[in-house]
Amino acid sequence: MADYAMIINGEKVLSDSTFDVVNPATGEVFAKCPKATIAQLDEAVAAARKAFPEWSALADDQRVAIMNRIAGIIEQNQTELAELITREQGKPLSGPGSIFEVGGCMAWTQVTASMKLEPELVDDTPEDTIELYKKPIGVVGSITPWNWPLLIAIWHIMPALRVGCTVVMKPASYTPLATLRLVELINEVLPPGVLNVVSGSSDIGNAMSAHKDIDKIVFTGSIPVGQTIMGRAVSNLKSLTLELGGNDAGIILPGTDITPFLEPLFWGCFINAGQTCAALKRLFVHEDDYEDVCQKFTDYVTKIPVGDGMDEKNLIGPLGNAPQLETVKQYVDDARKKGARVLCGGAPSSGPGYFYPLTLVADVTDDMDLVKEEQFGTALPIIKYSTVDEAVQRANSLDVGLGGSAWSNDPEKAKAVAMRLEAGTVWVNAHGKLHRWPPSAGSNLPVLDLNSGLRASKPIP
Ligand code: NAP
Repeated sequence: MADYAMIINGEKVLSDSTFDVVNPATGEVFAKCPKATIAQLDEAVAAARKAFPEWSALADDQRVAIMNRIAGIIEQNQTELAELITREQGKPLSGPGSIFEVGGCMAWTQVTASMKLEPELVDDTPEDTIELYKKPIGVVGSITPWNWPLLIAIWHIMPALRVGCTVVMKPASYTPLATLRLVELINEVLPPGVLNVVSGSSDIGNAMSAHKDIDKIVFTGSIPVGQTIMGRAVSNLKSLTLELGGNDAGIILPGTDITPFLEPLFWGCFINAGQTCAALKRLFVHEDDYEDVCQKFTDYVTKIPVGDGMDEKNLIGPLGNAPQLETVKQYVDDARKKGARVLCGGAPSSGPGYFYPLTLVADVTDDMDLVKEEQFGTALPIIKYSTVDEAVQRANSLDVGLGGSAWSNDPEKAKAVAMRLEAGTVWVNAHGKLHRWPPSAGSNLPVLDLNSGLRASKPIP
């Protein structure tokens, strides 16, 4: 088994104890990962604090140059990093999978490097000049989830490094390896201590949240853990960025011909086997169109190749871990017991690994766990509605509001409904789509278009 090391102060560091990393496609342990002690976390934080004055004092264009070198390193190591993600997390190499994820890391790094950090002139009068500067906060602690382990790590790291912060990371225990390797690679071009990574259990995350020498936590993960972090961060009044869970609704307007939308609808629901915060997790369909949409979507979904992501023919892999498989199984079983109709899938696959087939569930009610909880997997409830007002009211009835979408052959009508959804981001005839950056043409900046990965994946014959 290959050895993986933490990176503290630019050095590879092991620990006396390790934990297993399982390949979700086989259910087998394929690597051991160092389990950090709290003393090692303290060393990482001390290294980050020591590196901060020099890194933050560097001229901005020097940091930009280093970040562009990092983007090049990510590109050169795309295959190795993608294979690690597939083996520890399960998403396929193909489609919007692990190669796409690492490509996104590279693009995100370049785009963050290309952003302007000039001071903003707030007021300029004979009496006053007021300028607003973006200044580094100090040491940033980053705690990442297992669903998009590298892309989310990059979202945390790059803005912090760009502005002059130093970073200590803790990846999720299910998926630490690609992050350890990424940080090792990045350290080839960073001064020691600027970016550190410690792997371990929630004890490490807990200690980070209350650590007096960490100035800010950026966390992506579940709502309960976000609440715990918020509570513990109070000890030194840490700054927080929390990106938490959701249960996004998508409303197909009455009379919509669904055929042109089948592909974006599929990826909106099932990218990364549905394990995406802003995936479409509740699909509302008008009663007059209900059977037709159920039939067409079932026909589409059942043609998608599901299997071990190392096999390039597969577009959907296993669920990421055993508890996630159990959650999806329980929610579908509960819905079936309460009278729902399973259109396809509906039981764990036989054989090794944490596979649950793509599953569509009709005739669901709002009291079913599959509808009211974040299922985060390969099962989608299709909810029947009678009026658009009712659909909007039910879509907004949960206390989460990450994303939402409305679908119609008339985009203006869909936009009017999307505007009524209580969500941070809404889409028209798409869901979870990332926008190009820069948004306007004619710029010589690198273009970040993660959706090209979706377009390249044309799965359906
Ligand atoms: P999670 O259980 O909250 O874990 C996320 C991270 O927090 C892991 O590194 C975990 O470490 C760590 N952690 C666990 N307990 C902790 C504690 N008490 N203090 C500090 N850190 C602790 O979430 P997940 O299951 O990995 O991710 C799925 C969730 O993330 C879903 O709800 C999804 O919607 C959400 N998500 C949100 C976004 C967004 O941008 N809004 C993006 C992606 C995912 P261990 O792994 O060692 O336990």
